[in-house]
Amino acid sequence: TDFSALGLSAQIVSRIGAEGYEKPTPIQEKAIPLVLEGRDVMGLAQTGTGKTAAFGLPIIDMLLQNGKKPDPKTVKTLILAPTRELVNQIAENLRIFARKTPLKVNIVVGGASINRQQHQLSSGTDILVATPGRLLDLLDRRALRLDAVRFLVLDEADQMLDLGFIHDLKKIAALVPDQRQTMLFSATMPKSIADLSRSFLSNPERVEV
Ligand code: AMP
Repeated sequence: TDFSALGLSAQIVSRIGAEGYEKPTPIQEKAIPLVLEGRDVMGLAQTGTGKTAAFGLPIIDMLLQNGKKPDPKTVKTLILAPTRELVNQIAENLRIFARKTPLKVNIVVGGASINRQQHQLSSGTDILVATPGRLLDLLDRRALRLDAVRFLVLDEADQMLDLGFIHDLKKIAALVPDQRQTMLFSATMPKSIADLSRSFLSNPERVEV
């Protein structure tokens, strides 16, 4: 199998080909067609399996197909992750996938200037990668709105629960439209993740690697 057989556009396939991605990893092979079909996906996968591309490539493809620029202060895709390091790593990957496109990828994390982040959000964001706490601070400041979110991704969801983010996640999810596509990735599947997935995802397809 190659990437074009999964339903990705020629533009994206050639972009990642230039980065040396020749064959999809197992999680990519399973998840990409489902995400392109519009399904909610619950992925059981560790870091290093290629899960960033598994959700990132189909989302970028769908954003490019839609073609509309985000309105000021709105966000089209919200990706939540537990730590600054992970947020930076996800954003770095997505920026590589979205090179030579007009898509704007922004980051929201603690420990960096909140005013600078507020300014970056003002013109609208195609893909926002965020830790939950700083995102709530910026929402309190009315620096952004989540009512235009089409895609919601919870990455390393088990770690977010372990770090005590459940209350923050619920607050954030309440601000995102019900009509959205949601993807949840977790390395483990305790009951707390099953519960989270039941409340955040709609008829999810489960993929495991
Ligand atoms: P991740 O699990 O998303 O953190 O990805 C782990 C590493 O594998 C990253 O450095 C990716 O750039 C790389 N990677 C992901 N998918 C592929 C692929 N299909 N071919 C080659 N490298 C990949």
